[in-house]
Amino acid sequence: MKKKENKTFVCENCLALVEAVKNQSYKNHCHRCLYSKHLDIVPGDRRSSCMGLMKPSGQRIHTKKGIQILHICEDCGHKQWNIIDESSDNFDLICSLEVI
Ligand SMILES: [Zn+2]
Ligand SMILES: [Zn+2]
Repeated sequence: MKKKENKTFVCENCLALVEAVKNQSYKNHCHRCLYSKHLDIVPGDRRSSCMGLMKPSGQRIHTKKGIQILHICEDCGHKQWNIIDESSDNFDLICSLEVI
């Protein structure tokens, strides 16, 4: 499979344009609706063939990494924790997620 580049993409849930790279950190979810896409087996590896939409399903505060949101794949149920981008992510939406 061809390796995907880390660049701007269109959110498949709300159609917002998402800049994938910001401040050297890699971003894999939509800043507006927080949906992600199931592309990775291990975060960043792009080796999953699922490609399902991943729904933001919870949040927690990690002592070192800050706020994280839990994404659950709507196709296969895969779960993945992701750090947020405090400068652009929809903070109201993050706060409305259940604390796990
Ligand atoms: Zn979106
Ligand atoms: Zn999946």
